[in-house]
Amino acid sequence: MKTIHNGVNTFLWFERWHNGILLKDYWPTLFSDCADPWITIRHFHQLLNNPESLFLSIPAESLSALIDINPECSHNQDDILSWALEKSGNFSVKSFYKFLIDGGLRSPLYSNFWKIRCPSKVTLFCWLAGEEKILTLTNLFKKGFNFQNSTNTCVLCHNASENLQHLFLDCAFTNRIWAFFLQVLDSNSLPQSIPSLWSKWITNLNPQLRILLDLISRAVTWNIWIQRNTRIFQFNALPHFSIIFKVANVLLSWFSTAADRHQHSLNEASQKIKRSLNFLSARESDPACDPAHDLAQE
Ligand SMILES: [Zn+2]
Repeated sequence: MKTIHNGVNTFLWFERWHNGILLKDYWPTLFSDCADPWITIRHFHQLLNNPESLFLSIPAESLSALIDINPECSHNQDDILSWALEKSGNFSVKSFYKFLIDGGLRSPLYSNFWKIRCPSKVTLFCWLAGEEKILTLTNLFKKGFNFQNSTNTCVLCHNASENLQHLFLDCAFTNRIWAFFLQVLDSNSLPQSIPSLWSKWITNLNPQLRILLDLISRAVTWNIWIQRNTRIFQFNALPHFSIIFKVANVLLSWFSTAADRHQHSLNEASQKIKRSLNFLSARESDPACDPAHDLAQE
C-alpha cells in the first residue's frame, strides 16, 4: 500500500494507493482511454483544472469519481510504501508466511469453530450454512431447478419463502425451538443472521456461554434441516416440541464428550434442559397440545 504525500513516485493506475485497489482494474474504461498510462499522481494532480486533456475521448463530466479520490499532494515528503498485512505497516516474515499459506483470505469463523466436539457432518453443515452455500428452496429456484410443486414456500410454516435467514432464524416454527433453549438459559441473544452466527455473534457472547450456545446453534440448525428434508422427501411433519426433544437429546450426548474444563457449565445446563423437558412432556400429554393442534397453529 502507498500513503500519498507529494505523489511524485506513485503511479496513478498501477499502484495500490486508494483502499487497496488498482485503479486500472477498477476503472478499465478510463484506463484504456488514458493517453499516459504511466502518469504519476503528482502529474495528475497538476492537471486537475483540465483533466480531460489526459484522455482521448472521455468527457470531463465522466471523470468526477476519479477527481474526487485524488489525494492532497504536499511538497515536503515522499510517498511511503507500507506493508498492508501488518497494522503497523512494517514488513514481517510471519505475516508474509500466513499470506502464502492462506492466500490472504481471513476466515470470519471464530477460532474454536473447528475444535468444538460434535459430529463432523454437523460442523461441516454449519460451516456451509455460514457460507450461505445451503441449497434452500430459494437458492434452488435461483439456479433454475424444477420442483414437484413449483414452490419455494417454507415447509415448516407455509408462510414465507424458504431462504437461509428464514429457515434457520426467522421462521415461526424455528423460532419456537430457539425460544425454548434461550429461555432455559435465561438468554435473549438470538443471532442476527446465519453468516454472522459463528463469527460476530458468538465472539460477542460471554465466554462462559460460548460453548453452550455454539452447541445449541449447531443442534438447532442441523435438526431444522433434517426436519425440513423429512417434510419434503418423506411427507412426515413433526411438531415443534418433537424437534425440541431431538435437539435436547443430541445436546445431552454432545455435552458428555465436551472437554473437561467445560463440564461444569454444561452439567448445569443439562439439568436445566432436563427439567424443562419434563415440563414439556407434561404439556405434550395434554390433549390440547397434540401435534395436529400445534401444526394448525404454525
Ligand atoms: Zn417458515
